[in-house]
Amino acid sequence: MTKTFVSDKVARFTESVIRDMSRQAAQHNAVNLAQGFPDFPAPEEIKRAAQEAVGKDINQYAITWGSRHLRAAIARQMQLWQGVTIDPETEITVCCGSTEAMMAALLATTNPGEEVIIFEPYYENYGPDTILSGAKPVFVKLRPPQELNGEWTFDEHQLRAAFHSHTKAIIVNTPNNPTGKVFSRPELELIRDLCLEFNVLAITDEIYEHILYDGAKHISLVELDGMRDRTIVINGMSKTFSVTGWRVGWAVAAPQITSAIRKVHDFLTVGAPAPLQEAGAVALSLPPTYYQDLAARYLARRNHLMPVLDKAGFLCFRPRGAYYVMTDISAFAFDNDLLFAKHLVQNIGIACVPGSSFYNDPRDGARQVRFAFCKREQTLDAAAERFRKLQIH
Ligand code: PLP
Repeated sequence: MTKTFVSDKVARFTESVIRDMSRQAAQHNAVNLAQGFPDFPAPEEIKRAAQEAVGKDINQYAITWGSRHLRAAIARQMQLWQGVTIDPETEITVCCGSTEAMMAALLATTNPGEEVIIFEPYYENYGPDTILSGAKPVFVKLRPPQELNGEWTFDEHQLRAAFHSHTKAIIVNTPNNPTGKVFSRPELELIRDLCLEFNVLAITDEIYEHILYDGAKHISLVELDGMRDRTIVINGMSKTFSVTGWRVGWAVAAPQITSAIRKVHDFLTVGAPAPLQEAGAVALSLPPTYYQDLAARYLARRNHLMPVLDKAGFLCFRPRGAYYVMTDISAFAFDNDLLFAKHLVQNIGIACVPGSSFYNDPRDGARQVRFAFCKREQTLDAAAERFRKLQIH
């Protein structure tokens, strides 16, 4: 009997292209504009809080679903930003990053064969996450802006057509990676109406909620009438506090859903790093100016990188939020995004993410690549210098 030692599930997805690009960047000594992690220091106060927590010997397992201090801080901030009252005792699960929170949420809520709607291009984890949980991903297209500085949009009829009696959930990521789209209130209200009509859960990944430009406003589906008990909000410390390596994130949902998520989380990881959760409580107590500065600094970085990309020959889709620029590479003589990204990392010395990794059908992303601008000024300058070698047709 032939037996393979790896599961059928694993055969259905590839390793992360984003994380692989970071490895290639290191191998070729390239400027890494691929993976979304800052190359500048995290805020002093929260590093100090982490050191103090280790010093005070908060070094054993935290309560499985999260330190009391951190859960209290999350509830307080959601009251402030979303105007929603959350019970930290029954509605919050702290996980190892929002990555685990998303996985735990899908494992806790979906049955084999149930469908999960995902807007594409999408953050690449959502595909494997749905496969691992046994659910079936159904994709709805976000169309690139048709005019300069326009918005990514979706077709209302296509979205409606994706909803069925066996649809379990829809994943909404706003502000969005990779497009930089910030979903508007009318768009979210349409999603809300469909969730109510088809009795569907919304899983909203809001990890870029504070990184907004051009007056864009973040709205969470959980704030909309009718959505309080059918939304799982996923968030975390990685992006807001520039600590992607700490692995602290959370899922917020009504008590019945939360107890299912907590069960899964417990058996996946037992708990997130205890001292870093204490530092998380300190981070979430920083004053409003922290968030204003964060957005202002990212705006400066966006405005630094976009003209560089323009000049190099990319057609840039202007992001309204998050810290990526999705671009069109039609001006370059390459058959697809993978060949272009390979050339860029090996010969020019810059790592980007091939567009196809954000689509179910690689052909849809064959003319796109994504750049991350969560980098120091000198890193962006070093990229600008290297882009001079890149030739258009
Ligand atoms: N969700 C989105 C949309 C992301 O872009 C990322 C990281 O790039 C993550 C989740 C992962 O977040 P975490 O570090 O909290 O696991």
